[in-house]
Amino acid sequence: MHSLYSTLLADATFHKLLLVFDQDIAISARREPCLLCSGVLHSARYRRKPRGRPAGLGEEHDWRFSFCCARDGCRTRRTPPSFRFLGRKVYLATMVVLIAIMREGATAARMQQLSGLLGVNRRTVERWRAWWRDTFTASPFWQIGRATFMPPVDQDRLPASLIERFTGSGAEQLIALLRFIAPITGGNRHAR
Ligand SMILES: [Zn+2]
Repeated sequence: MHSLYSTLLADATFHKLLLVFDQDIAISARREPCLLCSGVLHSARYRRKPRGRPAGLGEEHDWRFSFCCARDGCRTRRTPPSFRFLGRKVYLATMVVLIAIMREGATAARMQQLSGLLGVNRRTVERWRAWWRDTFTASPFWQIGRATFMPPVDQDRLPASLIERFTGSGAEQLIALLRFIAPITGGNRHAR
């Protein structure tokens, strides 16, 4: 499983697929009116420099789709959910999920090897684990979303215990998990 995940992280095609998903979400989001004043939304995408991507992806992968109400005096921003960006995290959502899973049960030596391979230091990995264990589990999203799963998901083993609940190939399971957590990836209020 670990080598599958390492392969996915390095697979440009997989990252292009996630971009297509984000483009679809953005197209739908733009059709909706401003939630505050019903004004029209304009594109207000902004540049991110997400870490964890394979080399060779175009600059179109740097943009976070976002919108802004066109009406003067409102200008409310709306950032739709994403398969690529998890709130303000500097690493790709895929990384935050997969590295935390690979960390589960990994020996110190194995983890050091992974960290070196993917350019993530141990402190970052531990911070992600803490995010899953503390921030994610305390979120209103998870308080409701966890009821979807029976028997209950083991919260101490997140996100490994969550991805196991989705079916299909490793890539399909990962996409299903990213889709599941998409509601907490947008805006500025969540997933710091
Ligand atoms: Zn507005």
